[in-house]
Amino acid sequence: FNVAIDDLEQIGILGCGSSGVVRKVRHKHTGDVLALKVIQLNVEDQVRKQINQELRALYEASSEFVVKYHQAFYDSGAITIVMEYMDGGSLLQVLRDQGKVAEPYLAEISRQVLLGLRYLHKERRILHRDIKPSNLLVNHRGEVKITDFGVSGQLANSVSKCVSWVGTITYMSPERISGEKYGYDSDIWSLGLSLVELALGRFPYPPTEPGSTQEAQPIKLSFWDLLHYIVENPPPTLPSPQFSAEFRDFVSSCLQKEPDRRGKIGDLLAHPFLEKHKGDLRDLLIKRPEAEGPSGMDVDEAEAPV
Ligand code: ATP
Ligand code: MG
Repeated sequence: FNVAIDDLEQIGILGCGSSGVVRKVRHKHTGDVLALKVIQLNVEDQVRKQINQELRALYEASSEFVVKYHQAFYDSGAITIVMEYMDGGSLLQVLRDQGKVAEPYLAEISRQVLLGLRYLHKERRILHRDIKPSNLLVNHRGEVKITDFGVSGQLANSVSKCVSWVGTITYMSPERISGEKYGYDSDIWSLGLSLVELALGRFPYPPTEPGSTQEAQPIKLSFWDLLHYIVENPPPTLPSPQFSAEFRDFVSSCLQKEPDRRGKIGDLLAHPFLEKHKGDLRDLLIKRPEAEGPSGMDVDEAEAPV
């Protein structure tokens, strides 16, 4: 359905990213609760037309494994996206609240994210480019959906100029870091890295020294050192016996540095790891039914102008 921005009223803040704030809004007439994301972006007129075309392609996307965009357009210096509200927040929030995510849930998360990626890659020809825990959203029905799917060409270029070289971690694949040709396999690397992070409870680079205690904090790498490290060193692995052989094999298939050797979506969907567990994601959210927004913040009272 079509949503007019004037018909939305803010009822809370869902989170902040490098490109701005995501608000929880209610449609004044229908009562529907939705999420509103506004990305400030200044581009020239010719580029604007192209961006609007790409955004149209985005809200034609429709899959139960991908967050539904109801409206997406570029106007006077900002991209506005009105999308489906996911009441469990992102897997990054789940991780922050719960410390770690157990293997049976990760199997179910993997299954749903792979189905979402299969839809984006095979049916829409869209490369995501930014798979990471904060872009995987969950709801009380136990569904996981991919959001912030990038678009080819112009939009990705324009947005990445302002946002992608900030922060201290990256889910980019080695081939992408090296500036080589990269493609759909790159999203599989990012999924693998996200799964290892969710399993361990910390971003997996750099690894802790073998034999060190679990509490040992790894040395912090600068962003540039991290990029170099990812390209030059073996990929992260999961320790045995804390994690099953199936899970360790699954992530190692996603985290092959050579893109051609990385698991393909069809093979990964048939992997024994997904067969081994049938985790119900509704249980994952049980501890936080009112999950919305960064913890510690009374989101419904947070004041921010729309
Ligand atoms: P970055 O900007 O670095 O990619 P990010 O993905 O966290 O980080 P945003 O995409 O702006 O940044 O999202 C901010 C937060 O808002 C997310 O982490 C998520 O918790 C929340 N959020 C985003 N979209 C929705 C949605 N549709 N429903 C519920 N919460 C959402
Ligand atoms: Mg995001």
